[in-house]
Amino acid sequence: MPGPRHEAVKTALSRDIRTFQRPTGADGRPQRISAFFGSRCFGADRMRERLPPDIFRRWQDVVEKGVRPERPVADAIAHAVKEWAIEQGATHFCHWFHPMTGLTAEKHDSFLAFDSAGRAIEKFTGAMLIQSEPDASSFPSGGMRSTFEARGYTNWDPTSPMFLMDTPNGRTLCIPSAFLGYHGQALDEKAPLLRSMDAINRSAGRLLSLLSPTGEHPGRITVTVGPEQEYFVIDRAYAALRPDLVIAGRSVLGARAPKGQSLEDHYFGSIPQRVQSFMEEVEVELYYLGVSAKTRHNEVAPSQFELAPIFCEANLAADHNQLVMSTLRKVAARHDLIALLHEKPFAGVNGSGKHLNWSMSDNKGHNLLDPGDNPSENLRFLAVLASILLGVHRHAAVLRASIASYANDYRLGANEAPPAIISVFLGDALTRVVEAAERGENVVLDPGAPIQLAAQLPLIARDNTDRNRTSPFAFTGNKFEFRAVGASASISWPGTCLNAVVADGMDQLAAWIEADASPDRVLSAVRRALTEAAPVRFDGNGYSAEWVQEAEGRGLPHARTTPAALSALRQQAATDLFTRQKVLSPEELRARHDVRLDQYNKRVEIEIDLLLRLVDTQILPAVERDAQEFSGGWRGRQLEAGLEAIIAARVELNRLLSNHVEGEEARAEWLCHTLLPAAQNLRAACDRMEEICSDERWPLPSYYEMLFLS
Ligand code: ADP
Ligand code: MG
Repeated sequence: MPGPRHEAVKTALSRDIRTFQRPTGADGRPQRISAFFGSRCFGADRMRERLPPDIFRRWQDVVEKGVRPERPVADAIAHAVKEWAIEQGATHFCHWFHPMTGLTAEKHDSFLAFDSAGRAIEKFTGAMLIQSEPDASSFPSGGMRSTFEARGYTNWDPTSPMFLMDTPNGRTLCIPSAFLGYHGQALDEKAPLLRSMDAINRSAGRLLSLLSPTGEHPGRITVTVGPEQEYFVIDRAYAALRPDLVIAGRSVLGARAPKGQSLEDHYFGSIPQRVQSFMEEVEVELYYLGVSAKTRHNEVAPSQFELAPIFCEANLAADHNQLVMSTLRKVAARHDLIALLHEKPFAGVNGSGKHLNWSMSDNKGHNLLDPGDNPSENLRFLAVLASILLGVHRHAAVLRASIASYANDYRLGANEAPPAIISVFLGDALTRVVEAAERGENVVLDPGAPIQLAAQLPLIARDNTDRNRTSPFAFTGNKFEFRAVGASASISWPGTCLNAVVADGMDQLAAWIEADASPDRVLSAVRRALTEAAPVRFDGNGYSAEWVQEAEGRGLPHARTTPAALSALRQQAATDLFTRQKVLSPEELRARHDVRLDQYNKRVEIEIDLLLRLVDTQILPAVERDAQEFSGGWRGRQLEAGLEAIIAARVELNRLLSNHVEGEEARAEWLCHTLLPAAQNLRAACDRMEEICSDERWPLPSYYEMLFLS
């Protein structure tokens, strides 16, 4: 009798490929992307069409110069967007925001109202656009707001376009918003991100003015971000039999697949047709929303893929990344797939990250990390680079904390992902320049001669850097890539921390320059920064054991686990950094620490609970029956021994669980260092049995099935 597991394999293998209707034009032919890109969002084009010209100009000032939107502007925009949304089939609107859980939240209101004669009408005003009041008590506040004073406000972010979310029978207008407590405390991920972008603008303005021979202010400086999103997709039939995947996003049990990724044949290999169709549908959905899905490819592991957008301003990129994640999940279900965004869904298989490509740009669109081709541009580049190195070196512990989560602990520092030590990779060309600058030599940046692969091929420009997959923070030609960010995490918090850290580095450089009257004050400040930050530069193999030792010798922080990493947020240095840069008050910072710690504890507890249930209700019965059936023989003895190992590990875990540890911090340490190793033992005992127990009896879909038969 085939069990549910075998049924799932049959189901997965017999699925048809779902195709979908690509958008077509009036002539019935498929439309080009640019014809429908952004058609479900109220972006600049639509505003220009639908707003009176003076209102449109005032809105542009809001976006380009950071001017606060006045009430008449909000009223006009509210009216225009309401008309547009209703034409498009919307019945409701919602403030769409990012509580500190790293997810998104929304509360829907209909446009329905009554006029003075009591007739039903649709109504949406500037006041409703600007602010709403969700029940803040249902979101984590990190102790900032006790439930009896649960007032919280969402506040429209006019720089991120409103968009239409499809619901099964209609549409909802989503208004990207920040989320604040009654006393103005940031309860979300967006407000600090916006403040950190202001910090960059302020500090970069200060530094670049000092570099200009005429003291000219460079205008507004923006942060640009392009997050590459890695994910797995597997057939939904398997997930239905794996509560661990559904609830925790990760398999808490499972022996390695016989092949895994050992043949290295998946990266850039051809994409399976079923997944290809899924990706195409994801992309079309994203294009409607104005999200620029640009690249798609296989990743290293079987069933692992990546999607990267074209970079844009950081807050918009953060909103878009949330839409990317939710679209992946939603569209996967239509294809009978499940998208796993967890950092490490399968042990022993490559994990998923979200490489955060990051740079800064002036108001003419010039990238501040473009080396440039004349001496003054070079000096600007060097000063910016030195500031980044200085900030990252001084606040490495904060950056490490910014990427800390229970899920990411399975990825960081394992032999495949950037280590938990924050260091910066510059590459040969740039290292030569930096070393010359440190020695006080005149530096010219040589972009390097073009490389030609073969006579028939066109010339390609050589990047200023080669690649280093082992670095958590790597320079990649004209941007940095913060590679240690986890795949399921919101990019807002790591982005916020990175901005604060770099702004702080730029402020320090500016302060040194301001205090120095000598003609080569800029270069000497650069030199000073480079020398101080020298220990954080590392181009070698970040996976090696020697690096861990060497980093320690260099005095670089190395927090191996989330509880250790988060403690950096309780240090005075972190409080000072966020206060100085006006990004978070001490209370707001404390709240971030507490919420993250709380999430760590909850997630570990949930997984241990899942593990116990799977072991008790599925694994033990299967192994017991098998041991009975084969008792006496060679297999029987193996099974008997395995069964005992599982029971011993199970009993030990139970014993530990009967302890109750008070206090979130102590609890986190206990979970991390006492319970998780015991859970790991239990898992290992079960995984060994998966290799011995009769295949027909094993209840859980195997790694092989999920990764290769989806
Ligand atoms: P790779 O995997 O080779 O690093 P991808 O093309 O997959 O390259 O991703 C690179 C990402 O970096 C893209 O999202 C791209 O838009 C982004 N990017 C490029 N230039 C910048 C920049 N100046 N600032 C921020 N992100 C950038
Ligand atoms: Mg990359």
